[in-house]
Amino acid sequence: MEALEAINQTIQKVLNTTMDSNFQIVREYVCEGCGNKVQVIRTKALLGPNKGEWFESKKGCDCEVIELIQKQQQEAKKSRINRIFEENSLINPALREATFENFEPGEFRLAYEKAKKYVDEFDINKPRNLLFQGTFGTGKSHLSVSIAKALTEKGYTAIFISTPKLLTKIRNTYNKDSEINEEQVINALANADLVVFDDIGAEGIYEENGRISGWALQKLFEIIDQRAGKHNIYTTNLTSAEFERTKELQRIFSRMLMNSEPIIMNGTDYRRRKFLKEAK
Ligand SMILES: [Zn+2]
Repeated sequence: MEALEAINQTIQKVLNTTMDSNFQIVREYVCEGCGNKVQVIRTKALLGPNKGEWFESKKGCDCEVIELIQKQQQEAKKSRINRIFEENSLINPALREATFENFEPGEFRLAYEKAKKYVDEFDINKPRNLLFQGTFGTGKSHLSVSIAKALTEKGYTAIFISTPKLLTKIRNTYNKDSEINEEQVINALANADLVVFDDIGAEGIYEENGRISGWALQKLFEIIDQRAGKHNIYTTNLTSAEFERTKELQRIFSRMLMNSEPIIMNGTDYRRRKFLKEAK
C-alpha cells in the first residue's frame, strides 16, 4: 500500500515538472478593454511540426468576443435603419440615387452647404426643421434625400415622403380591400428621427374639379402637426403668397415655419442645368 502511494506521488511529481517546463505564466494584468484579469502564457508545442517551439497567448480576455457582439449589434441596427427607410419611404425612382456627392450645387452652393451643415449639427435633443422653398426642379428634393441618407449613415432613422404619394396612400386605405388603415400609415411616421415631407402642395391637394381638397389639407395638417417638436424637412414649390390662399393652407404653412430655417431655391431648372452641363 505504501509502495503504491509512493509510486503515485512520484508520477504526480513528474507530471508537475513536465507541466511547469512546458507552460509558463509570463505576466498578469487587468485588461483595459474588458476589465478581466488576463494571463499571458507561454506554452511549448509537444506535438506536431512545431514541436518544441514556444507560443505566447492570452487567457481570460473577452475583448474579441465583446467586439464581435458589438459588431453584430451595429449591423443589426444598421439593417433596421435601412429597413425603416425602405419600408416607409415614398420616393420617386429618379430620386433614389440622389446623394450629396452627385448633387451639382451650381447657383445653389449656399443651399448645399446649409443642407450639409444640418447633417453635421444634427442633434436628436435639439429638433430643427428645414424648409426648402422654390421653383420646380432646382434640387430641393435631391438635397432632402441626401440629408435623409446621410443621417441614416450616421445611425439615425429617417423617412422620405413624397407628400402627394402619401395622400394617395392614405386615400387608398379607405378601400374596403385595403390591408392597412390610415392610422398605421400616419403612425409609421411618428417615431422616425427625421421625416422629409417632399413636394407639399404641388399635387394631391386638388380635387378632380380643380378645387383645393379640404380633406387633403386637413390630412396634411394632421400629419405635419403630429411631427411637431421633431426633426422635419419640408420642400414646396408654392410661394408664401400661394400659402395665403386659404385658411387651411395658412395653417399648414405656419406649422412648416415653426422652428424652421427657410432655404430659398429659385432658379434654373435643376434637370435642365444638369443637361446643359452634360452637353458642354
Ligand atoms: Zn480584454
